[in-house]
Amino acid sequence: MKVPILYIVIPCYNEQEVLPITSSLFLEKIQQLTAQNKISEQSRVLFVNDGSKDNTWQVILDLCKQNPIFQGICLSRNKGHQNALLAGLMAARQYADVTISIDCDGQDDINAMDKMLDEFADGCDIVYGVRSKRETDTWFKRTTAEGFYKVMKTLGADIVFNHADFRLMSRRALDGLAQFHEVNLFLRGLVPMVGYRYSSVYYDRAERIAGESHYPLKKMLAFAFDGITSLSVKPIRIITTLGFFISLLSIVGIVWVLVTNALGLTVSGWTSMLCSVFFMGGVQLLSLGIIGEYIGKIYTETKHRPRFIIQQTTLSEDVDIKDYE
Ligand code: UDP
Ligand code: MG
Repeated sequence: MKVPILYIVIPCYNEQEVLPITSSLFLEKIQQLTAQNKISEQSRVLFVNDGSKDNTWQVILDLCKQNPIFQGICLSRNKGHQNALLAGLMAARQYADVTISIDCDGQDDINAMDKMLDEFADGCDIVYGVRSKRETDTWFKRTTAEGFYKVMKTLGADIVFNHADFRLMSRRALDGLAQFHEVNLFLRGLVPMVGYRYSSVYYDRAERIAGESHYPLKKMLAFAFDGITSLSVKPIRIITTLGFFISLLSIVGIVWVLVTNALGLTVSGWTSMLCSVFFMGGVQLLSLGIIGEYIGKIYTETKHRPRFIIQQTTLSEDVDIKDYE
């Protein structure tokens, strides 16, 4: 087999403190892998600047000037982690035989890439980086994150437990991914749908080297909710079942009320009436809300808005990735 060209794809949002530190780690990794003849000399580190408000793009451009191994793409505005990653992968697909996506904060173990490439050489098209423990995360982040994977699984979304976006994908797998045109991106859920042979590599997740997490609780909840509603229609089914049982219960309730009434045992009944009004109102609102969420998704999908727009790139201009925007 010919030595594959590897592109390491790294989304960056407001990471000016981290990049100078981690970029050298990525460079060392590429050089080491090249020296071992595991990857081709044309391998690159591709940064995607996701509309950062700080100097991240300037930092990336400086890196590119220092060493041609570094390449950069600048999106026209902040589009979120998933879209930035997709932009990078779709660009890398034009040049690379294999890509590895990783966060730029040093939390994912760069050394796991060796094992990923071994699995690739063994014929896997997708290799998931899986965190073996989460000791460096706070108790809260760990519990909410693990809870999220469990909820996703029960709701029928096929995602890999404790795997985030640290993964290897072959060009063939990326070609598969390119055929998914959805706007509500949740790559963790989409990649398993691509299929092909896959495996996992386990690593310990470290702490962020510098800067702050962009995923506070509010964003995490929004991400989880997006993930569930863009992958699974089970919540709608649950609502239907709930509605069915509640209707059944209310029929029993009505019979009971009529019987007690006929027996002349009725009391003023104000409390119970109000309770049921509130309860039904709540259930209905919740149901409408969830159904509305799906309608909202349909609404955004039908618009076919671009998932990202590239403002500037250091990669050669002859390659067109517009079709995947
Ligand atoms: N990121 C991005 N766009 C955003 C938010 C985050 O490209 O809108 C990048 C960020 O620079 C990092 C990765 O996504 O490389 C993961 O973000 P972060 O480390 O903040 O998340 P956490 O690891 O805390 O879940
Ligand atoms: Mg992080």
